[in-house]
Amino acid sequence: MARIGLVAHDDRKDELVAWALRHRDTLARHELWGTGTSGGRVQDGTGLSVTRLLSGPLGGDAQLGAMIAEGRLDALVFFQDPLTAMPHDVDIKSLTRLATLYDILFAPNRRTADAVLAAI
Ligand code: PGA
Repeated sequence: MARIGLVAHDDRKDELVAWALRHRDTLARHELWGTGTSGGRVQDGTGLSVTRLLSGPLGGDAQLGAMIAEGRLDALVFFQDPLTAMPHDVDIKSLTRLATLYDILFAPNRRTADAVLAAI
């Protein structure tokens, strides 16, 4: 069982829910963590159990980053909006930096997320 973080920016939340629905049976075998809104959307849209942290801009990204630094997250699916400036850009950078630094599986888009799920 892997511990997977789930995050999507607003314009990509529908995509994250659709992806999770498509992989529902596989995801059900893993432990899921999500930022507040993303986690809630996945839970409501799929029936999967997701442990919800704070909303991303209010500290949820930082909580996921801390989990990575403490070795408590194996993979991160983070569908970012590449076309919109975000007020919590520093948190996004920190989260992606820690995912890189600690060499966890890290999927910024759907096809990579498919590959990550196939690898765990
Ligand atoms: P949210 O946070 O799931 O609470 O909307 C996502 C983000 O980090 O922007």
